[in-house]
This record gives sequence, C-alpha cells and structure tokens, in this order.
Amino acid sequence: MFETRAVHAGRDDLAALGTHAVPIDLSTTYPLPDLPAAALALDAYAEGALPEGSPIYGRLTNPTVRRFEVALAELEGCADAVAFASGMAAVTACLLAAAARGRRHVVAVRPLYGTTDHLLTSGLLGTEVTWVEPDGVARALRPDTGLVMVETPANPTLAELDLADLAAQAGDVPLLVDNTFATPVLQQPARAGARMVLHSATKFLGGHGDVMGGVVACDAQSADVLRQIRFATGALLHPLAGYLLLRGLSTLPIRVAKASASAAILAERLATHPAVERVHYPSIGGALVAFEPAGDPMELVAALRLITPAVSLGGTDTLIQHPASLTHRVIDDAARDEGAIGPKLLRLSVGLEHEDDLWGDLSAALERSSGASASASATASAPAPASDSDSDSDSDSTLASASVSVSVVMLHQETSPAHV
Ligand SMILES: *Cc1c(COP(=O)(O)O)cnc(C)c1O
Repeated sequence: MFETRAVHAGRDDLAALGTHAVPIDLSTTYPLPDLPAAALALDAYAEGALPEGSPIYGRLTNPTVRRFEVALAELEGCADAVAFASGMAAVTACLLAAAARGRRHVVAVRPLYGTTDHLLTSGLLGTEVTWVEPDGVARALRPDTGLVMVETPANPTLAELDLADLAAQAGDVPLLVDNTFATPVLQQPARAGARMVLHSATKFLGGHGDVMGGVVACDAQSADVLRQIRFATGALLHPLAGYLLLRGLSTLPIRVAKASASAAILAERLATHPAVERVHYPSIGGALVAFEPAGDPMELVAALRLITPAVSLGGTDTLIQHPASLTHRVIDDAARDEGAIGPKLLRLSVGLEHEDDLWGDLSAALERSSGASASASATASAPAPASDSDSDSDSDSTLASASVSVSVVMLHQETSPAHV
C-alpha cells in the first residue's frame, strides 16, 4: 500500500546495514584504490548511467540523495528519478534535455508556476514556447517540439486538466507534468501517460518549509540524460536535503490527507461566506484553496493573525499569498489574463493546524477587511452542506463555483486520498 511504501521506500537495505536512521554521506570525493576500474566507471557516469561501486565524486551521485530518488520514483510509479537543487533546476534540466536533442520548441498550457512561465517566455534557455488551450496541444506540435508542459492542479488557480487526453494529444512528444500541487498521494501522472513527472520538492515532499529541492520521475532513458545534464551543469541536491526529503516522504500521505481534509472544509466555508466572491478547489482534493474576496485582498491578508503571509506552500503551517503581486508578478499582464490569475485572487496553502482555528482567523479577517459584510460570521459558522447532485454537472472545474467543486471533493475524501 502507498502509505507503507512511503515509509519504507529507499530504506529497504537499512536492516542489513545494521542501522535504523538513514546514513548521511557528506563526502565530496571517495578513495579510488583501483584506478582502471574508476576510469571505466567514470565513462559510465558520463553517459548518465549509475555503475556499481564508488560514487567517485560528489557531482556524479550521492548515496543519500539516491535513496530519495529511488523512493520518489517508486511513489510516482516510474522507473527512475533524478533530484536537483530546486524545482527550477529540475525544470531547466528538462528543457536542456529536450534542447540537446535539437528540440527547443515547447507546447504549454497556462497557468504555470510564474517562474516556469517566465523561463519559457523569456527565452533565457533558447526555448520557443507556444501557449495553447488544453484541447489545442496536438495542433501546436512541430517536428522540433521537445516537450508538452502542464500543471494540474495548476499554480495558482488550481485549474485541472485531463492528463490522459493530453498524453494522447502529445503522442511521441514527452508530456511533462508538474505534480507539485497534487503530490503522488492524490495523483500519479505517469499512470495517465505522462513521461516526466516533476516536483518542486521544496513544497509538500519536504513538507516543513526548511529544504529546497527539485526532482523529476521518469523512464530509465530520460533519467540517464537528466543525470548527464546534472553532472555537466552541477545543479545538485545537497545530501542533507536528500535526507530531509526522504524523511518528508514518510509522512507525506498523512500530511496530505490531513491538510486536504481541512482545506476542503475551509473551501466550503469560504464558499458560503458573503464577503467571498469565488472559491476554487480541485476535484481531486489537496491542501490548496484559491479564492477571491469581495473586498481588498491586501487588507484581508494584513488582517490575518495566525495564517502567515508568505510565498511557498506545502508546509506544516498555513500560508497565504497574492499571486498577482508575488509568485506570478514576473509574468506579463496578458499571461496573467490567459491564466485567469485575477487581481483579487489569493492562494491559501492549508497546513496542519486545527481547521477551526484557521477558520476563526480567516472569518475574523474577512469581517475586519470588508465593512460591507456585517452578517458574515453568522452565515459562515453554519456552512450549507455541499449538494451531491451538483458534482456531476460540472465538467469545467477551473472556474467552477465553489459549492460545486467542493461537493466533488467531499466525496473524494471518503475514499481516502492515500489509497489513490
Ligand atoms: C515552487 C514551484 C516551482 C519551483 O520550485 P523551486 O523549488 O522554488 O525552484 C515549480 N513548480 C511549481 C508548481 C511550484 O509551486
């Protein structure tokens, strides 16, 4: 079962080693008494392989980081995984891998994380991007298309995409899915045909706001190319970060389940609050809620006491941010319009606090920041039950009204996300 593998993956040899906690190997170099064997091994490393024996040098591989890679690959249902210094280093390696095959053209669907959008649009890596609607992927493919890139649920609107349809449209071109928001607990894109599954491990995988990292789960051949690029460009995950990310995986299912349950409750309460105009909550669940208050979003954030105004997400404490000012400031207005990232949109990353404390903070801030809603707390403390009959009629979850999409999620919660 998924929860069991989350605890044991990457650790299967520990008992035989006679140790319980994962050893941290901080070596930058390793003794090489057999030079001819080391020379041959180096040839293999340069090809992106992982030969048996000495790691030789810290930029080639690291035993602690390797445990995290093996574990994440297993949880995503992929043959292998390659870890990087950050989510953006992982995105960069995927774009370089495509460019190395002479394929600099990318087809992508908005919205994407702001810096990913910026990296594609700015051409900093020589990439050329065609932005399409989800049903326009196949038509946009060219002989030099190296990747189809999507996020679902997307940052920051939580718009959802049909991965099987996108994989079919992409055909032979690798579909890269940024699975940062869903995590493998809620969604394993490789099972729907994605060839590369990317995470900002900084978020849910680490889960405590104290480690940066990125990782790509993929087939064996793609992993070889990504390792070649990592070896040549050096965007390594530090062994301590590898240790913390592996430790994070062991609590990932329980953290995501708890945060998702709280987020679904908060989404439902926000949806019935008179000072809230719109709520976006994914049909697959998750710890993120996006909403648009009737009043000034800046005032609302300033009125919060428990919830921390900060970028990033997926940690133990609840964070809120204003995408148009922060995470998606780097993209231009047209891109924000295309991604439906409105000026009032707030993105809430629900942590592990009690949901009633979070609601107390949110509802008090909603009242303080919106003079117009004097009756807010009375209505909000008794949220209307979600209507099941609405759940099937909503095929466009992107901008679905909250009561509709929340009802989908409440059904999902009963089936326990950790068993997906
Ligand atoms: C944060 C984030 C990234 C970038 O990851 P870093 O670890 O900050 O480099 C990429 N994609 C998504 C969806 C993110 O939320």
